[in-house]
Amino acid sequence: MPSVISHTIVAVTAGKAFAPEDVPGRFWFLAFFCSVIPDADVIGFSLGIPYHHFFGHRGFFHSPFFSFFLSLFIVSVFFSRVRMFSERGTFYLVFFFLVSSSHGILDAFTNGGLGIALLAPFDNTRYFFPWAPIKVSPLGIRAFLSHRGLAVITNEMLWVWLPCLVIVAVSKLTRGFLRIKKAGQSSP
Ligand SMILES: [Zn+2]
Repeated sequence: MPSVISHTIVAVTAGKAFAPEDVPGRFWFLAFFCSVIPDADVIGFSLGIPYHHFFGHRGFFHSPFFSFFLSLFIVSVFFSRVRMFSERGTFYLVFFFLVSSSHGILDAFTNGGLGIALLAPFDNTRYFFPWAPIKVSPLGIRAFLSHRGLAVITNEMLWVWLPCLVIVAVSKLTRGFLRIKKAGQSSP
């Protein structure tokens, strides 16, 4: 996996780039949650669930199928006052689905471990993308604070943080431009 930091950076980027400006505080917490929760499947190691198992690490919980149901759950529980298929409700559904799915997709760009069960539950094959420039992150905190952890972070700065920064900058410019245009149209 890329580090937890990089997964949450993707969530913040998606929110900053695409979310309406008046989203409530819980929106950000839930975006973070969706971006990292697939890795809760590492618990499976201590429960004796093998890595390659359907419920093993990078298995079902890393699939877009899981993300779809997670998104439905989040919108119906945490945004129960928003109508599910209104404009705002649809945005939340798609947003949380994509942020949660981004986790498995980002993992499929890493160069280690087993691949990701992107098509689960229909197919338990573990996939990597043919181009995998992201160094796989060590799982434990101690390993993460080693030289290897530093190499991983430097690598992620290039392949995840930098593109995210560009996306946020472009979105800020576009939103600023649209705001000026709108103000110009509404002034006499
Ligand atoms: Zn993962």
